[in-house]
Amino acid sequence: MTEQRYKERQQKRKNKVDETVSSAQIERGLLLVITGNGKGKSTSGFGTVARAIGHGQKAAVVQFIKGTWECGERNLLESHGVEFAVMATGFTWDTQDREADILAAEKAWSDAKRMLADPGLDLVLLDELTYMLSYKYLGLEEVLQTIANRPAEMSVVVTGRGAHPLLIEMADTVSEVKSVKHALNAGLKARKGIDW
Ligand code: ATP
Ligand code: MG
Repeated sequence: MTEQRYKERQQKRKNKVDETVSSAQIERGLLLVITGNGKGKSTSGFGTVARAIGHGQKAAVVQFIKGTWECGERNLLESHGVEFAVMATGFTWDTQDREADILAAEKAWSDAKRMLADPGLDLVLLDELTYMLSYKYLGLEEVLQTIANRPAEMSVVVTGRGAHPLLIEMADTVSEVKSVKHALNAGLKARKGIDW
């Protein structure tokens, strides 16, 4: 491709992006869903929280799956005034006790509900919420309605694999992270600062 043709093509692309940007007129909080099997969903959610608080906004996090490890983001963000509600006993990746899991999910959801009704919050991250819906630990209607009824300026990020089709439909931005390869499958251990 000649340099001239490259320039023309880039200009065309730029014009198209500029047009889309300038025709966007609606201002309100967004619902983002980060789903798919690849690595990068929760880190994307926490990155958005960091972005928001970097602008002096207020954010809160609910972690619907209690990992076996501490969480680097929590260590950092709590010291910046970000409230964390972490699903307590019960549910981990290898769940055994459905009743206990449901109780723990409901408790975490009550924190989420409080946050989702708080007009002082600009952003709420509902990390791994998708599993609470796929395992039917939480009611779909209840969750969708609560998210839909949040304050107009509040944004919400939901992460987790297998996002429910209705959640996807309701969302403004949906990204599916695709796994191309993962270190674990080559025998590499999960690493502090990378995996948690
Ligand atoms: P991260 O928190 O690193 O952004 P994630 O939220 O996209 O990852 P989860 O499904 O929540 O991924 O899984 C959390 C843990 O599982 C992380 O330690 C991550 O490295 C690991 N993991 C994520 N994707 C894969 C995969 N495709 N294969 C194996 N392990 C994975
Ligand atoms: Mg995750």
